[in-house]
Amino acid sequence: MPHHTKLATLDHLQILARRFYRDGDGTVATFRRLAVALNEQMVPISTWGWNYACQVANGKIPASKKLTVAINRLYELRVSQRGSFEPVVVLAPNGFVEPRSVVMARSRKCARPECRTNFVPISSHHLYCSRNCRRLAQHK
Ligand SMILES: [Zn+2]
Repeated sequence: MPHHTKLATLDHLQILARRFYRDGDGTVATFRRLAVALNEQMVPISTWGWNYACQVANGKIPASKKLTVAINRLYELRVSQRGSFEPVVVLAPNGFVEPRSVVMARSRKCARPECRTNFVPISSHHLYCSRNCRRLAQHK
C-alpha cells in the first residue's frame, strides 16, 4: 500500500467513523460497527475490538500494518470511487476469484435460450456460459 501514508490512513479511518455513525449512536456503537467491517476486510477475518479502532482514530496509538491494510481496503470499498460498487454472490471455479475481488465486466445471459445462466464473459465473443451450452447450441 505504498501510496497510503500514515496520515492518509488516519484520515480514512476518521472518515469511515463518520460514515459508520448512525443517529443515536455513542462512540462504542459506531466503533463496534466499524470494527466488524474492518475485521471482515482480512482473510482470515481479524478480531480487532472497537476500542483499538477508536484509539487509532483518536491518534492515541498507531495502526498496525494489518489494520492499515484493512482501513484502506474498507475506505476504497465504502468511500472512494468504488463506493458505487456493491457486494454480490459470484460462483467461480475453485481458486479463480479471491474474496472481495472487484469485477470489472458486466455479466450477460448465456446465448442458448434454454439456459438461464448469467456469466461474466472473458471477451466480447464469449457467448455461452459453458462448453456444454456452446456444443448444444451448435448441434441444433
Ligand atoms: Zn448456458
